[in-house]
Amino acid sequence: MTQRISVRNPRTGRPDYEITALDAAAVTRIADRLRAAQPAWAARPVEQRIAVLAAFKEAVIRRREELVRLLEADTGRHQVSLIEVDAVLSGIDRASGFAAEVFAPASLVATGDPAVRTGGDLVAYPVVAAISPWNFPLQLSLIDAVPALLAGSAVILKPSEMTPRFIPALRECIGEAADLADVFAVVEGDGATGAAMIEAADAVCFTGSVRTGRAVARSAAERFIPAFLELGGKDPAVVTASADLDSAASAILWGSTINSGHACMSIERVYVDRGVVEEFVDTLVAKAERVRLALPAPADGDIGPIITSAQTDTIREQLDDAVARGARVRTGGRIELIDGGSYLRPTVLTEVDHSMRLMREETFGPIIPVMAYDGVDEAVALANDTEFGLSAAVFAGTAEEALSIAHRIDAGGISVNDVCLTGMVPEAEKNSFKMSGLGGSRMGRPSVQRFLRRRALLVRETAGPRPWYYDTAE
Ligand code: NAD
Repeated sequence: MTQRISVRNPRTGRPDYEITALDAAAVTRIADRLRAAQPAWAARPVEQRIAVLAAFKEAVIRRREELVRLLEADTGRHQVSLIEVDAVLSGIDRASGFAAEVFAPASLVATGDPAVRTGGDLVAYPVVAAISPWNFPLQLSLIDAVPALLAGSAVILKPSEMTPRFIPALRECIGEAADLADVFAVVEGDGATGAAMIEAADAVCFTGSVRTGRAVARSAAERFIPAFLELGGKDPAVVTASADLDSAASAILWGSTINSGHACMSIERVYVDRGVVEEFVDTLVAKAERVRLALPAPADGDIGPIITSAQTDTIREQLDDAVARGARVRTGGRIELIDGGSYLRPTVLTEVDHSMRLMREETFGPIIPVMAYDGVDEAVALANDTEFGLSAAVFAGTAEEALSIAHRIDAGGISVNDVCLTGMVPEAEKNSFKMSGLGGSRMGRPSVQRFLRRRALLVRETAGPRPWYYDTAE
């Protein structure tokens, strides 16, 4: 049975939109339709699939303003909505380049057995389910869908029920690219719809929380289908005494508060050499106090509302817990309710330690806890004292010094003298470590290869010693 779900507006706090969540029967019907169309899609030369995705990109460009407006309604922020649409456009180009490389013609090659040559087919998973979160609604909906389509899979995509207003416009874009709608369906729904998609698909790409990721992994394991999981983080930044403190403070402030801190790779813990920590904190606080809330209109300032009320609760609980345990608020620190939306100015905390929830659990808000360390070994130990391993950042006077620390951090991508580069450089292959995820890299060539199984072809070319019974006529 389909179900109506009302959607809250993050700037007013009121529900002003509705979606129809598909039930399992409807999901199965869509998956069956996609599965029927997929062989013809996969049989096309990759150049044709690239051309269809290029037509889709043109449709997104034509609807850029509309998409930005809808994303703005979904999330309450303007600037990041622009960034999202542009990231989608460049992402299509990058993924198309990777697909062309993956499908470059290859002939049979020699093996260790001089009489046998080998080569292979690339066989796409027929139907890929893509399930995405609310923090970058459009970009994270397409980040797996586009490479899967280029690989030759069909895709059923479900964006988050918290931020679904852009779905009709996205469907229009798909409809404007010849034949793409045959193999790419976008559905509305909540967790139950997502769960039904896993039952109907041949592979699943999930971006979201560790808690849901675990449920997705279990369902996928039951069905023996691969699950590519991109989950939460608690990214550390390490700042050494030799770092350019002004530039480190600017980068960390941006990396912690962009999109109101709703980024998996946002900097959520900062470890600074004790010798420079006070100077760093003073610089950081001065910069943080210049960041403006995006009020009264989304395009007016720097950071928008906290997008969901559940996240507001988490951020408040973590702040209260930290303060109760002795954290000192250096700036910010109070969630403000303005016209129904919840806002938190960039919040810098000191006197923090790992007994506090906000040093261990994902916060997903614009909070920057700063802790002093004595010696690089302690910095590395603190950075690694987490169940997460998504990404990290290291700031030092030279790249060599920073890299010597980066090599010791247990995370899948480390930015040196910058933050969040892992999200912005699609060529940099990475895996999520520890509880932050599972499966092949969604960056680089593997972003496409993940959706392809290899069928080995092994050809015996000449007569020679063979292990068969009765190999000769006698
Ligand atoms: P969430 O886990 O609550 O939901 C994500 C998606 O899963 C939604 O579309 C939801 O409807 C769906 N879902 C819920 N239950 C399901 C089930 N049982 N089966 C299948 N699908 C189900 O996450 P969220 O709150 O939307 O997103 C925030 C989280 O996403 C944060 O933890 C953040 O770190 C993470 N995230 C990770 C990355 C990354 O690349 N690693 C990127 C962005 C966000």
